[in-house]
Amino acid sequence: MELSKFCPRCGEETSSLYGGEKKYCPECYTDVNSLADIPDEIEIETCSVCGRMRHKGEWIEAYSIEDQLSEAFSDFTEEDIRMELQFWEEDEEFWVRVHLHDREMKDFEDVRVEWEENQCSDCARFQGSFYKAKIQLRGHDLEKVSEVIVDKAAELTNMNRSDFLSNVEKIDGGYDYYLSTEKMNKKILSELRSKFDPDIERSYELVGERDGQRVYRNIVSVRL
Ligand SMILES: [Zn+2]
Ligand SMILES: [Zn+2]
Repeated sequence: MELSKFCPRCGEETSSLYGGEKKYCPECYTDVNSLADIPDEIEIETCSVCGRMRHKGEWIEAYSIEDQLSEAFSDFTEEDIRMELQFWEEDEEFWVRVHLHDREMKDFEDVRVEWEENQCSDCARFQGSFYKAKIQLRGHDLEKVSEVIVDKAAELTNMNRSDFLSNVEKIDGGYDYYLSTEKMNKKILSELRSKFDPDIERSYELVGERDGQRVYRNIVSVRL
């Protein structure tokens, strides 16, 4: 004999009842309970320069709106609950409808998203005057050499964001290149040695004091 189940809330016959102490039909369950704990409003922080997104304190490689939303909402997913996101803009506000599915229960929550644009730490360094090493290129017909330095710098930045050329200055008799790391400086110099026959001289420039210690920048003079 099969016993019929009735929902205590709506009185309808139902195939299954859901819940702990108080059990309901699928429709009533989602009226009374929520399938996931989702806030009414969330903030998503992105970098205005490189477009990366800040997630749990880290700048991560999520660039499209879809990827950024799915990262942000992954914080609220629970086991066994399927989540689908739908988004739209309305009166200059950005909304996401989070569809939730758990067995035969379904529900949705509307969440307002506040987009916050800032500069990530890597990009902030690009903008500022921060540099660790300077290459002073001097000589004649330097265009070809300069191209090698800039290309190598771009290649190194692609491999590691903390390696970058923060500035290039064209001056009388050559160029000055401001590099973010000493490691990058070494790689560029070995590239120059392999392609040209430069005279290389190192010196240091005192740039100030930090925590009672003198801070120097590495200056490399490259002559051709
Ligand atoms: Zn019911
Ligand atoms: Zn950035």
